[in-house]
Amino acid sequence: MENKFAELNEKYGEVAALGSAGAVLAWDQRVTMPPGGASARGKALAAIEETVHRKFTSPETGALITSLYDWAQAKGYDSFEASCLRAIKRDYDQAVRIPAALVAELSLAVSASFEAWTRARQASDFSIFSPHLEKMVELNLRKAEALGFERSPYDALLDIYEPGMTRVRLDPLFSELLSGLKPVTRAIGERACKVSNSRFKGDFEESAQLRLADELVKALGFDFKRGRQDLSAHPFTTGFSVNDVRITTRTHRDWLPACVYASIHECGHALYEQGAPEEFDFTPLAGAPSLGLHESQSRFWENIIGRGRPFAAWALPLYRKHFPGKFDSLSADDLYRAANCSEASLIRVEADEVTYNLHIMLRYGMETLLLDRKLKIKDAPELWNEKMKEYLGVTPSKDSEGILQDVHWSQGMFGYFPTYTLGNLISAQLFNSMKKDLGSIDTLVEKGDFTPILGWLRKKIHSQGRKYKPEELLEKATGERLSVRPFVEYIKAKYAELYGF
Ligand code: MG
Repeated sequence: MENKFAELNEKYGEVAALGSAGAVLAWDQRVTMPPGGASARGKALAAIEETVHRKFTSPETGALITSLYDWAQAKGYDSFEASCLRAIKRDYDQAVRIPAALVAELSLAVSASFEAWTRARQASDFSIFSPHLEKMVELNLRKAEALGFERSPYDALLDIYEPGMTRVRLDPLFSELLSGLKPVTRAIGERACKVSNSRFKGDFEESAQLRLADELVKALGFDFKRGRQDLSAHPFTTGFSVNDVRITTRTHRDWLPACVYASIHECGHALYEQGAPEEFDFTPLAGAPSLGLHESQSRFWENIIGRGRPFAAWALPLYRKHFPGKFDSLSADDLYRAANCSEASLIRVEADEVTYNLHIMLRYGMETLLLDRKLKIKDAPELWNEKMKEYLGVTPSKDSEGILQDVHWSQGMFGYFPTYTLGNLISAQLFNSMKKDLGSIDTLVEKGDFTPILGWLRKKIHSQGRKYKPEELLEKATGERLSVRPFVEYIKAKYAELYGF
C-alpha cells in the first residue's frame, strides 16, 4: 500500500507542478505580458488546463484513490495519509462528475459572456449581458445537477468554494448579520460628518506609494526572499510553491489607501501561502480548505490589524518618511479615523468593513433567486436597485454601478460571493481567540511586533493546509463553531467609539 500511496502522490505532484507552471503564466499575463501576447497565452493556458484535467481524472488515479482510501483512514484521521486521501478524493469526485462536454460548453460560454459583460458594463447596458447571464444560470444548474446536492442546486455550487457550506446554514447566519449591522449603519448614517477620509486625498507620488507598501508588508512578515510584490490593475495573490508567492497592488495617485490597503489585504493572503509546511507543497494538502478561510487572513490583516488604532500609531512614522511633509500635522488618531470612514456606497469593491457585507447579502439573495428560477433575468436589474435602497439606502443611477459591476456572474461563478462575508466573520472569530492566547494585541501592534500574531495564525491555521474541512479547522483553532457574534460585536464597539453613538 505504501508503494501505491507513493505512486498516487507522484501522479498528484506532477499535476500540481503543471498547475504551478500554469500559475506562472497566469501571473505573467496579469502583471508583465504585453497586450499582443493575449491570444498565444490563452492557448498555452488552455493546453495546460486540459492536460491537468486529463491527467488528474484518469481512471488510474481513480483506482488508486479507491484502493487507498480505507487504508489511509485507518492510519488515523489526523494522519498525513488520511488527510491527503480525503482532500484528493474530494477534488477527484468533483472533477469527474462534471462531464467533459459540459466543461467545454461552459468554457466557451464564459469567454463569450465575459466579453459581453465587458461591453455591457462600458455601455451600462444590461441587455447586452442578459442573454449570457441566462446561459450562465442554465449551465450552472446543469453543473449543480452533475455535482449532486440534497436540497438546493445552489448548495452544490457553494460547496465548490466553501466545502460543507449550505443555504440552510448560511441563511440564519446572514439574517443575524443583517439585523446586527442595521442599527450600526443607521447610527453611522445619522453622524456622517463625524469621520472624514479627506486626509488620505492629495497627490502621492507612485514610487513612494510602492516603497511604503513594500515596507508595510515586510514588517507584517511577508518574506521577499520567497515572494515579490508587483503592480496590476486588480490586486491579487498567487503562489507557485510555498517558496514563491506573488502579490500585486495598485496605485491611485490621488488616493493613498487604494495602494496601502490592497497591499495589506494581499499580504494577508500571501502570509497564509508562505506559512504552509514545505512538505505539503505539490500534495493535495497544499492550500486552504476554503476561500472563506483564505479571505479571513486577508481581512484580518487589512481591517482588524491594518485599520486599527494601534496600527495607525505604529504606521504614522512610515507615512511621514515616505511622504515628507504630508503627514506632519496628523496625529495617529487622525490617521486612524481617516482609515475608518464608513459610508453607504454603490460599489462593492470600494465598500468599507461595515457596509461590505450588505453588498454580499444582496448578491447572495439575487443568485439564489436566479438559480431557484424565481427571478426572471429581465427583472434582475430592478431587484438589484430595490435591494440597494433597502440594504444601503442608495440607488444606482445606471447598471454599470449596479448589477453590471462585478465580474463573477459573467465568469459563471455562482456561490462565490458568500465566501467574502465568511472571511469577515472568521477573521473576527480568530481575533477573539488570539486575544485569549496572546493578551493585548494592541500593545504588540503599537510596537510593530507582528511576529507573535503571525505565529499564532501559522500554528492554528497556516500550518494545517487542507488537512481539515473549513468549519472543522475553525473549531480546532477557536473552540467554537462559525458564528456571527464576534464580528458584529467588533463592528459595534469600534464604530460606536469612532462615531460616538
Ligand atoms: Mg481577497
